[in-house]
Amino acid sequence: MTTVRARFAPSPTGDLHIGGARTALFNWLLARHTKGAFILRIEDTDVARSTQESIQVILDAMTWLGLDWDEGPFYQTERLFLYREMADQLVAKGKAYPCYCLPEELEAKREAAMKAGLKPKYDRTCLQRKASPSDRPFAIRFFSPDEGKTVVEDLIQGRVEFDNSELDDLIILRSDGLPTYNFSVVVDDVTMNITHVIRGNDHLNNTPRQIQIYQALGHPLPEFGHVPMILGPDKKKLSKRHGAQSVMEYQKMGYLPQAVVNYLVRLGWSYGDQEEFTLRELIEKFTLETVGKAAAAINPGKLDWLNSQYIKKMEPDELIQKVLPFIEAKGHQVTDRDLLKKAILSLRERSKTLVEMAELSEFYFCEEIVYDEEAAKKFLKSESMPIFEEIIGSLSREAILKKESNHLLIQRLSESRGEPLVKIAQPLRVALTGRTVSPPIDEVMEALGKERVIQRLRKTMEYIAKSEIRISKSETNPKSK
Ligand code: GLU
Repeated sequence: MTTVRARFAPSPTGDLHIGGARTALFNWLLARHTKGAFILRIEDTDVARSTQESIQVILDAMTWLGLDWDEGPFYQTERLFLYREMADQLVAKGKAYPCYCLPEELEAKREAAMKAGLKPKYDRTCLQRKASPSDRPFAIRFFSPDEGKTVVEDLIQGRVEFDNSELDDLIILRSDGLPTYNFSVVVDDVTMNITHVIRGNDHLNNTPRQIQIYQALGHPLPEFGHVPMILGPDKKKLSKRHGAQSVMEYQKMGYLPQAVVNYLVRLGWSYGDQEEFTLRELIEKFTLETVGKAAAAINPGKLDWLNSQYIKKMEPDELIQKVLPFIEAKGHQVTDRDLLKKAILSLRERSKTLVEMAELSEFYFCEEIVYDEEAAKKFLKSESMPIFEEIIGSLSREAILKKESNHLLIQRLSESRGEPLVKIAQPLRVALTGRTVSPPIDEVMEALGKERVIQRLRKTMEYIAKSEIRISKSETNPKSK
């Protein structure tokens, strides 16, 4: 059996979107599963729309996803000599011919055909041309057979037939020396010994043209597989209104690359009803046979769910490394590694994304707690002052704070005061975190440590004292604001 050589061939005209990333992933998995090669080729011959920035975004996105390539990146603009050479070969074989028609002549003919209700098709003026007008630049056109059918035996779509009469003589090399897509792709796939062309279904209609070029070059066909499109949750064509589509946006939103890979692979590929896969499992289990024919719809809820699973299972040190830039982006310089680790261990159970985790973690690292207004109104009252006083007293006698003893302390206070546990825990939570929702408060106290807890409680007591003065002032003088 020949070794698989799969490729990903993006055009660098924008971000790497999830559709492209999934194509890259399927090719990568095919190569890794078969211990073949994965080749990266940048199709930058549309010089007006290709940008260096987009090339960088594509490379970054692939690196972030962990889709490493064995060969490349190759750039089509560095291979122009090759397309010229192959086009000349086709001309020499009588399979292609120079075309001197000017764009405006072609346009006029196109319009005339449309007016007459005919499908515009090149009329082969230059095939019949006897003398070549030496003063004109020329393109090269492929001589496409008129009769018969071209059949695509697609690994995913099955057998698809095209009438040759539908395909006209397409330009393969433009007069400026740049190849057109259908030609450069074949020249590259041939010269790079590609065995599997796996790409989006939007290219299926190009495939018969490419097959004809393979045949004209006298080269055996690779396997073709056209992956169905990705749709929005409403089963409509994916568009901006369906939310983020670029891979790097997912990174910015705090998704882990493993979760995105897991999410992408399930948009079209399945293995029973299994949803979660490690990378190793994917490499072991991936085959094109179970890539479905039907379009897959994105499901942002599933990505959130997968991401939270990966967050929970990740090694704490690795998770810290991943979330730290998001925390720092919020303006916190975290120097206390112990605090960071404890915070992350508490928060990983309740965060869907790294962004959410960084948001939830702010109270651990901020200098001063900003109380949520509603929470403060409800829980920071003078009746809590003696409770805080007692907690400060007890904690001052501890060497370090431990979750278990913190819990016992809260329990003891609730019993001695004849109050339910929440009456102690909620004011304490608002004092230490500013909010009414947080990880278990005994755990939070251990993470913050004795000094921070006491300092925050003192601050809260000052805050309560001040607001009491304000309230009593406004009560004695209702007009003052
Ligand atoms: N450059 C093409 C695109 O980005 C890919 C073509 C192919 O894979 O054959 O759609």
